Amino acid sequence: MAQELKQGETLTPSTAGPLARALERWFAASARDLPWRRSADPYAIWVSEVMLQQTQVATVIPYYERFLARFPTLATLAEASEEEVLAAWAGLGYYRRARLLHAGVREVVARYGGKLPLARDARRTLPGVGPYTNGAIGSIAFEAREAVVDGNVARVLSRLCGLPAPLGSRASTEALWAVATQLVEEATQPSALNQGLMELGALVCTKSKPRCYACPWRESCCAHARGLTDKLPRAKPKTPQATVALLAYVLETQCGQMLLEQSTGSLFRGLWSPPLRTEPDPTLEASTVALQEAGRVTHVLTHRRLKVRVLRGRIRPDMGVNASVQVGLCPLSEASITSVSGSKQNATGPMQGLQPSVPAPQALVALAEFESVPMSRLALKLLEVPWRRDDAPLGRALG
Ligand code: SF4
Repeated sequence: MAQELKQGETLTPSTAGPLARALERWFAASARDLPWRRSADPYAIWVSEVMLQQTQVATVIPYYERFLARFPTLATLAEASEEEVLAAWAGLGYYRRARLLHAGVREVVARYGGKLPLARDARRTLPGVGPYTNGAIGSIAFEAREAVVDGNVARVLSRLCGLPAPLGSRASTEALWAVATQLVEEATQPSALNQGLMELGALVCTKSKPRCYACPWRESCCAHARGLTDKLPRAKPKTPQATVALLAYVLETQCGQMLLEQSTGSLFRGLWSPPLRTEPDPTLEASTVALQEAGRVTHVLTHRRLKVRVLRGRIRPDMGVNASVQVGLCPLSEASITSVSGSKQNATGPMQGLQPSVPAPQALVALAEFESVPMSRLALKLLEVPWRRDDAPLGRALG
């Protein structure tokens, strides 16, 4: 019979060993069949771990499959342009992950001959490879005794050991990594142990209403024994979310091309969207007829809530808003650079990343070309606003 852990108790080899073996047995019997679990390729495991950060498994699966079909090897991803990578990532959000993954694989090609290094410290220096991703790659791809702690794992281990410190605090972080390390040290198979921890957090030790009756650790678990499952883990204090008011200009030509702009600010950098402004843009408004409000969109980011007023209008045929750019004849990469109104200073605070620090490229894009243009999820929402009827051509183009 397993022994119940005392509140705040860390593990020893004698307590960690039985827990590790129980979890590995449970994982062998309960693991979901997920596409990345069918691959032993370190590159594919890296891609899956990056996509799974802050994103649900069900959302990731189609993106992962399309991404691997488009970039089947580390070398193909390293050779791709940033625009191609962002286009394959479009809709998944948190685009910084895609840029860092791209930079990371390029570094693997440049410094390690295209093979992910076995050494943990070498992997840790790659762009975008933090402690969690490093541990996941090391243990799953190389069966190395490397620990993982993400949100799911933190919840499970906080409850198992009854850790009182709030998540995100130094005390909690140190205790969680210590427990995760003790477990993986005792594992028969580090890949099964770490994936079992992730799976337990996703399927059984869920945020609300954990299914303790189905848990391989119920006899040892401190939170279960003491009725603390709804009190642990203690949440870290929330960062207040700033609200930012924006204007979006959804402008089209008479022949139905849309004006898109590529973000040069840190937010959505490299992605295209209808021009977004923090205040009315006299240049755009002078280029437009029949400008009117088409609706409003709210878009929530990690620390900001964007409230966007969507203005729709038609670009005056006599105006030169990139009139020379005929998409279909001219690829986006050749889009002309035009100046944008508003501040070109790097903003700070809630506006950070929203205002361009250099003039932003603009292009006129036909509906048929939308699929090949990397756009943020916000851009897709904005483009849908004026055409909310299902039978509208843009609604169909956006799927
Ligand atoms: S017994 Fe319950 S609270 Fe404890 S680890 Fe298992 S599911 Fe989580």
